[in-house]
Amino acid sequence: MRCPSLDRLTDYLRGFGVGTERATIQEHLNMGCPDCQQNQQWLLAVKRIAPLDDSFEFPAAVTAHILSWMPTKPVRTPLRTLLAQLIFDSFAAPPLAEVRSATMADAQADSFVARQLLYQVDGIDVDLRIEKAADAASFELLGQVLRQDVPQADLAGQVVHLWQDDIPPIAVNLDAEGMFRIASLSPEIYELRVTLPDGVIAIPEITIGEV
Ligand SMILES: [Zn+2]
Repeated sequence: MRCPSLDRLTDYLRGFGVGTERATIQEHLNMGCPDCQQNQQWLLAVKRIAPLDDSFEFPAAVTAHILSWMPTKPVRTPLRTLLAQLIFDSFAAPPLAEVRSATMADAQADSFVARQLLYQVDGIDVDLRIEKAADAASFELLGQVLRQDVPQADLAGQVVHLWQDDIPPIAVNLDAEGMFRIASLSPEIYELRVTLPDGVIAIPEITIGEV
C-alpha cells in the first residue's frame, strides 16, 4: 500500500478506523517505511505530551508545528547569491594624464557631480548613479535593475538593501521600472544587495563619495 495520509495515520494511532484499514496501516508500518516511521514518531511524541484522555485532539498549532518538520514537506532551497561584476565606472575612464595639470585634477575632485557604475551578473544589469546632494554634505544613490528574462514591471516591490558596519541596513523597494533611490548617504563604502525571487544580487563594495 502507499503511505497512509497523515489524517489516517493520526486516526490509527488514536485507535480509530475500521479493522481492515487498521490492518493495512499496521502492515505498512511493519515494513519500516522511513517516512511513516518518522511521522509516527512525531505523532506519538505529541500524543505523549497532550492530555491522555479520549477527547484527545491535536491542537492546530501543534499540528502545524509537526507539519513544518515533516520530511515530506518540500524543502525550500536557499536563495543563491550572485556576485555582480563591475563592468563600467565613469571614474575609471583613462585619465588624460599628459594634459591635465595638478590644478585641473583638484578642480575635478572638488566638483564631484555624478559617478556612473554598471554591474552585471547572469543577464541582470544593476545601473548605479551616485550624486552629490544639493547640500554638498551627503550623497544620493540612484539605481536601476534591468533584466532581460522577466518583464521589467515584475521587479516592482523587490527589496534593495544598502548597509555598512556603522549603520543599520537601509531597505527600499524597486518601483515599476526597477528603479530605486536612497538619499542622505554619508561618504562611506557600502554593500548593496538586491533580493529577487530567484536569487540575491550582491555588490560588496560601493564607494559613495570621495572615500
Ligand atoms: Zn509510508
